[in-house]
Amino acid sequence: MVIAVYPGSFDPATYGHLDVIQRASVSFDKVIVGVLHNSSKSPLFSVEERVNILEKATRHIPNVEIKSFEGLSVNFARSNHAQVIIRGLRAVTDFEYELQMAQTNRVLAPDVDTVFLTTSLEYAYLSSTIMKEVAHFGGDLSRFAPPEITQAVQRKLQEAQK
Ligand code: ADP
Repeated sequence: MVIAVYPGSFDPATYGHLDVIQRASVSFDKVIVGVLHNSSKSPLFSVEERVNILEKATRHIPNVEIKSFEGLSVNFARSNHAQVIIRGLRAVTDFEYELQMAQTNRVLAPDVDTVFLTTSLEYAYLSSTIMKEVAHFGGDLSRFAPPEITQAVQRKLQEAQK
Protein backbone atom coordinates (compact mmCIF):
# COMPACT_ATOMS: atom_id res chain seq x y z
CA MET A 1 0.00 0.00 0.00
CA VAL A 2 1.57 3.30 -1.08
CA ILE A 3 0.61 6.24 1.09
CA ALA A 4 1.33 9.81 -0.05
CA VAL A 5 1.15 13.02 1.95
CA TYR A 6 0.40 16.34 0.27
CA PRO A 7 1.61 19.11 2.58
CA GLY A 8 0.85 22.81 2.16
CA SER A 9 -0.75 25.89 3.63
CA PHE A 10 -4.04 25.61 1.71
CA ASP A 11 -5.14 29.10 2.82
CA PRO A 12 -7.66 28.28 1.40
CA ALA A 13 -7.68 25.44 -1.13
CA THR A 14 -8.17 26.35 -4.80
CA TYR A 15 -9.14 24.35 -7.89
CA GLY A 16 -5.37 23.93 -8.42
CA HIS A 17 -4.95 22.08 -5.11
CA LEU A 18 -8.13 20.07 -5.66
CA ASP A 19 -6.88 19.05 -9.11
CA VAL A 20 -3.60 17.78 -7.61
CA ILE A 21 -5.49 15.88 -4.86
CA GLN A 22 -7.87 14.33 -7.38
CA ARG A 23 -5.07 13.15 -9.64
CA ALA A 24 -2.92 11.91 -6.73
CA SER A 25 -5.88 9.86 -5.45
CA VAL A 26 -5.75 7.86 -8.69
CA SER A 27 -2.03 7.04 -8.46
CA PHE A 28 -1.72 6.34 -4.71
CA ASP A 29 -3.64 4.01 -2.43
CA LYS A 30 -4.13 6.75 0.12
CA VAL A 31 -3.52 10.51 0.03
CA ILE A 32 -3.23 12.39 3.31
CA VAL A 33 -3.41 16.14 2.81
CA GLY A 34 -1.39 17.91 5.52
CA VAL A 35 -2.50 21.41 6.42
CA LEU A 36 0.47 23.23 7.86
CA HIS A 37 0.03 25.03 11.13
CA ASN A 38 2.71 27.67 10.70
CA SER A 39 2.87 30.11 13.58
CA SER A 40 5.19 32.50 11.71
CA LYS A 41 2.62 33.15 8.94
CA SER A 42 -0.69 34.89 9.56
CA PRO A 43 -3.19 32.96 7.45
CA LEU A 44 -6.68 34.19 6.54
CA PHE A 45 -8.20 30.92 7.77
CA SER A 46 -7.34 29.05 10.98
CA VAL A 47 -5.89 25.60 10.55
CA GLU A 48 -9.21 24.05 11.70
CA GLU A 49 -11.09 26.08 9.07
CA ARG A 50 -8.65 25.08 6.34
CA VAL A 51 -8.99 21.40 7.30
CA ASN A 52 -12.77 21.73 7.33
CA ILE A 53 -12.84 23.38 3.91
CA LEU A 54 -10.70 20.61 2.41
CA GLU A 55 -12.77 17.87 4.05
CA LYS A 56 -15.91 19.20 2.45
CA ALA A 57 -14.28 19.74 -0.95
CA THR A 58 -12.81 16.19 -1.09
CA ARG A 59 -15.60 14.25 0.56
CA HIS A 60 -16.41 12.47 -2.71
CA ILE A 61 -12.91 10.92 -2.90
CA PRO A 62 -12.81 7.93 -0.53
CA ASN A 63 -9.02 7.48 -0.26
CA VAL A 64 -8.28 11.10 0.73
CA GLU A 65 -7.88 12.17 4.33
CA ILE A 66 -7.20 15.66 5.70
CA LYS A 67 -5.02 16.31 8.75
CA SER A 68 -3.21 19.26 10.24
CA PHE A 69 0.44 19.17 11.18
CA GLU A 70 3.27 21.28 12.53
CA GLY A 71 6.96 21.11 11.71
CA LEU A 72 8.73 19.18 8.99
CA SER A 73 6.87 17.53 6.11
CA VAL A 74 9.19 14.50 6.34
CA ASN A 75 8.15 13.95 9.97
CA PHE A 76 4.51 14.26 8.95
CA ALA A 77 5.15 11.70 6.20
CA ARG A 78 6.90 9.28 8.56
CA SER A 79 4.29 9.52 11.29
CA ASN A 80 1.67 8.60 8.68
CA HIS A 81 3.80 5.75 7.24
CA ALA A 82 3.89 7.58 3.89
CA GLN A 83 6.58 6.74 1.34
CA VAL A 84 5.84 9.78 -0.84
CA ILE A 85 5.49 13.56 -0.48
CA ILE A 86 3.45 15.15 -3.26
CA ARG A 87 4.02 18.71 -4.40
CA GLY A 88 2.38 20.59 -7.23
CA LEU A 89 4.44 22.39 -9.88
CA ARG A 90 2.82 25.27 -11.71
CA ALA A 91 5.64 26.96 -13.59
CA VAL A 92 9.42 27.23 -13.64
CA THR A 93 9.16 29.82 -10.88
CA ASP A 94 8.09 27.02 -8.48
CA PHE A 95 10.89 24.77 -9.61
CA GLU A 96 13.99 26.12 -7.87
CA TYR A 97 12.40 26.30 -4.43
CA GLU A 98 10.67 22.95 -4.80
CA LEU A 99 13.86 21.24 -5.97
CA GLN A 100 15.75 22.64 -2.99
CA MET A 101 13.01 21.46 -0.59
CA ALA A 102 12.91 18.02 -2.18
CA GLN A 103 16.69 17.69 -1.92
CA THR A 104 16.65 18.85 1.70
CA ASN A 105 13.92 16.33 2.46
CA ARG A 106 15.97 13.62 0.75
CA VAL A 107 18.89 14.39 3.10
CA LEU A 108 16.58 14.39 6.14
CA ALA A 109 14.64 11.28 5.12
CA PRO A 110 16.22 9.20 2.33
CA ASP A 111 13.32 6.74 2.58
CA VAL A 112 10.72 9.33 1.58
CA ASP A 113 10.49 10.43 -2.09
CA THR A 114 9.04 13.65 -3.43
CA VAL A 115 6.74 13.30 -6.42
CA PHE A 116 5.79 16.38 -8.42
CA LEU A 117 2.48 16.62 -10.17
CA THR A 118 2.28 19.31 -12.80
CA THR A 119 -0.92 21.27 -12.61
CA SER A 120 -3.56 21.24 -15.30
CA LEU A 121 -2.81 24.18 -17.59
CA GLU A 122 -6.08 25.91 -16.76
CA TYR A 123 -4.92 26.32 -13.14
CA ALA A 124 -1.26 27.08 -13.81
CA TYR A 125 -1.60 30.74 -12.77
CA LEU A 126 -3.67 30.04 -9.70
CA SER A 127 -2.62 30.37 -6.06
CA SER A 128 -4.42 30.99 -2.77
CA THR A 129 -2.70 34.39 -2.64
CA ILE A 130 -4.01 35.41 -6.08
CA MET A 131 -7.52 34.33 -5.12
CA LYS A 132 -7.39 36.41 -1.91
CA GLU A 133 -6.06 39.43 -3.81
CA VAL A 134 -8.88 39.28 -6.36
CA ALA A 135 -11.39 38.82 -3.51
CA HIS A 136 -9.98 41.85 -1.74
CA PHE A 137 -10.84 43.99 -4.76
CA GLY A 138 -14.29 42.46 -5.21
CA GLY A 139 -13.51 40.40 -8.33
CA ASP A 140 -15.28 37.27 -9.53
CA LEU A 141 -13.81 34.20 -7.80
CA SER A 142 -15.85 31.53 -9.57
CA ARG A 143 -12.93 30.27 -11.71
CA PHE A 144 -10.64 29.84 -8.69
CA ALA A 145 -12.43 27.51 -6.26
CA PRO A 146 -15.80 25.83 -5.63
CA PRO A 147 -18.63 28.09 -4.39
CA GLU A 148 -18.42 26.95 -0.72
CA ILE A 149 -14.78 28.07 -0.65
CA THR A 150 -15.22 31.37 -2.49
CA GLN A 151 -18.16 32.24 -0.22
CA ALA A 152 -16.02 31.47 2.84
CA VAL A 153 -13.31 33.81 1.48
CA GLN A 154 -15.83 36.60 0.94
CA ARG A 155 -17.29 36.15 4.46
CA LYS A 156 -13.83 36.26 6.01
CA LEU A 157 -12.90 39.45 4.20
CA GLN A 158 -16.20 41.08 5.19
CA GLU A 159 -15.58 40.14 8.84
CA ALA A 160 -12.09 41.57 8.63
CA GLN A 161 -13.45 44.89 7.33
CA LYS A 162 -15.91 45.28 10.24
P1 ADP B 1 2.96 26.19 0.45
O1 ADP B 1 2.87 27.29 1.43
O2 ADP B 1 3.53 24.91 1.00
O3 ADP B 1 3.52 26.53 -0.90
P2 ADP B 1 0.39 26.08 -0.84
O4 ADP B 1 -0.92 25.83 -0.16
O5 ADP B 1 0.58 27.39 -1.47
O6 ADP B 1 1.44 25.77 0.26
O7 ADP B 1 0.65 24.95 -1.91
C1 ADP B 1 0.73 23.59 -1.58
C2 ADP B 1 1.22 22.80 -2.77
O8 ADP B 1 0.26 22.93 -3.83
C3 ADP B 1 2.53 23.27 -3.38
O9 ADP B 1 3.22 22.14 -3.86
C4 ADP B 1 2.11 24.16 -4.53
O10 ADP B 1 3.09 24.20 -5.53
C5 ADP B 1 0.88 23.42 -4.99
N1 ADP B 1 -0.05 24.29 -5.70
C6 ADP B 1 -0.54 25.48 -5.32
N2 ADP B 1 -1.37 26.00 -6.26
C7 ADP B 1 -1.40 25.10 -7.27
C8 ADP B 1 -2.02 25.06 -8.56
N3 ADP B 1 -2.76 26.07 -9.00
N4 ADP B 1 -1.80 23.97 -9.31
C9 ADP B 1 -1.02 22.96 -8.87
N5 ADP B 1 -0.38 22.96 -7.70
C10 ADP B 1 -0.56 24.00 -6.90
